[in-house]
Amino acid sequence: MKLPDFTEFEPFKQLRLSMKARKAGHFELFNPEKHLTGRERSELDQQGRLVSLHRLRRFADDTWGLKNSRLVIYRAEDHDYHLAQCEVTQGWEPGQQVWVTSRRTGSLPLGPQGETSRQVCAHCLQLLGYKGFDLNRNRKIAYSKNLLKVFSRDEFFQVYTLYPVQGVGER
Ligand SMILES: [Zn+2]
Repeated sequence: MKLPDFTEFEPFKQLRLSMKARKAGHFELFNPEKHLTGRERSELDQQGRLVSLHRLRRFADDTWGLKNSRLVIYRAEDHDYHLAQCEVTQGWEPGQQVWVTSRRTGSLPLGPQGETSRQVCAHCLQLLGYKGFDLNRNRKIAYSKNLLKVFSRDEFFQVYTLYPVQGVGER
């Protein structure tokens, strides 16, 4: 779709002046291709969404994303959920159907009816080195196992901002 050039459109020029934005780049227009709508955000939080893996964004900091949100991803048949592009998720086919959600606490949604209780994936925390997580170093093993037990997604998404994700490149 080709959009008309609004940079010289008089009402918008006036609007930019009143916003004290001298250049068009001083504010960002809402783009539904890149930005989640309010409806999508509540859908992701409340019922999750089933998508093909290749439709997700691979952020350069190793987390997964959809448009401008980070995500929790999981398959219906597994016991773990994933927060990063760990070796497990890297082994999945691009056409693999995965559940995604932005829910920060408690169980994870499987559509409008279902819910599931899951563990965070240790490979994900290892890859991110989250809070010094490291099961490969003897002196960190007990600490890391405990971190798995007390892990909080809510806290995780304070470190890795859930939404909106800005200025993070892609792989
Ligand atoms: Zn993982």
